[in-house]
Amino acid sequence: MIIDSHCHVQETEFENLDQVKACKLAVMGTSPRDWADVANLTEEYPSKIIPCFGVHPWFSESSKDEDPCIGPLSFTSEEKEFWWIGLLEKYLKRFPQAIVGEIGIDKSAVDLQTKKPYDFEIQQKVLHSQFQLAARMHRSVSVHCVQAFGALVDLFKEVKHDILLSSDDEKKRGLMFPPKIMLHSFSGSSETAKALKAQVSFSSKEMKIVNSNLIGEPSKPPSPEYSGTNGPNFTPPSLFYSLSELVNMRSEKKLEKLLSSISIDSILIESDCGSVHLVDEKLHNISSKCASILNMDTQTFLDHISDNNKSFFCN
Ligand SMILES: [Zn+2]
Repeated sequence: MIIDSHCHVQETEFENLDQVKACKLAVMGTSPRDWADVANLTEEYPSKIIPCFGVHPWFSESSKDEDPCIGPLSFTSEEKEFWWIGLLEKYLKRFPQAIVGEIGIDKSAVDLQTKKPYDFEIQQKVLHSQFQLAARMHRSVSVHCVQAFGALVDLFKEVKHDILLSSDDEKKRGLMFPPKIMLHSFSGSSETAKALKAQVSFSSKEMKIVNSNLIGEPSKPPSPEYSGTNGPNFTPPSLFYSLSELVNMRSEKKLEKLLSSISIDSILIESDCGSVHLVDEKLHNISSKCASILNMDTQTFLDHISDNNKSFFCN
């Protein structure tokens, strides 16, 4: 089962999606403006599309002011700042198979109209609120991170620190990790991959602390929509690195170093493109490049990817 783990085919017109050889496509919404397109496409091709809804870092600022009258939301004050979080929640409830994406932070991109970088503080807040909504609704996330890995490590640190606080500590905020985190078109170094991995790994001593914290908590009624990883059976999140031709084939040396430092069980592949006609070609190019670096035939590599797709996309 080969899945294009990150693409934007809702952005272009096409006649028939069945021409794509990949089994499924994870289609990333990028702002409230295109969520309906992702939903419509999913309804048209229910067995082919994995819908994904999120606010992309480039649209963090513009989405903020789009529609302030969605009504009262049952989340923290930080989340209330963004009206669309209620709409995002509605889409996620409507599509139980949906994941949260594309979300993230980006220090390199500039607003094409103002030529200024996108407000980083707003990007961080928007990422944080979506990361927590995904965690509460037990949905996986697809994260875009460009030249901002320090801030992403800090976010992971903040969540881990909070999880390890005792439930009667006044500073505890109840932060959680989404169950599975995909770092899309991962452009970080192998050291960055290690730093991120360290924050989602819990030693046996830390697992004891988390579990003893949970024993003291009053039991909450189970809710299928809101069973977070911080529930009675804490499971540390799984981290996946999604690789693309566009980003990961820019430097063979960097890709070699990355592939030697991450587990093959954590790799996904993606086209990251908007054109249906390019999906298979882009997946083929990144797969054969990774396979040759890993010294295996492409089919063996794709067999691993197929298993990883099941781990990431199927609950
Ligand atoms: Zn994307």
